[in-house]
Amino acid sequence: MPNRYDVNYEKPPVVGTELAVMGQRYRLIRREPYMRRDGEWSSVLTWEAYCCECGNPFETKSGLRAKELHRRCRKHREAGLRVQWTDAAIARRAEHEERRAAAAKRWEERRPEREALRAGLRAKQEAKRHPKRWEPPRQAEPSA
Ligand SMILES: [Zn+2]
Repeated sequence: MPNRYDVNYEKPPVVGTELAVMGQRYRLIRREPYMRRDGEWSSVLTWEAYCCECGNPFETKSGLRAKELHRRCRKHREAGLRVQWTDAAIARRAEHEERRAAAAKRWEERRPEREALRAGLRAKQEAKRHPKRWEPPRQAEPSA
């Protein structure tokens, strides 16, 4: 296919955008401004994927348009090799994905804890900004 682009965006996609290229998944993890030679602003996109050789995560960069994205980590990058997912690579990728999902779940589970902590901090800051005035102790109501 002569005019196929792995990456093809008009505007920079949001971080977290996922892309599937010939069975390999890429996730946008960073987006940085970049000035082109003609003075126009563009973006450098950093994608994360799992190496089809070893299953370890790796990062690769592209512009808003790119004909191809790397499919292998730096260690296994070799031009002209056919992509072949080995069982070991698939297993390792699954391991990474599982670990990440578990971490995301833990993060989600601790949300109430974090929010309580944040609320406590806010209350403390608020108390510092507006200290309570001293008030004379109230006289006890005469008992009937
Ligand atoms: Zn690799």
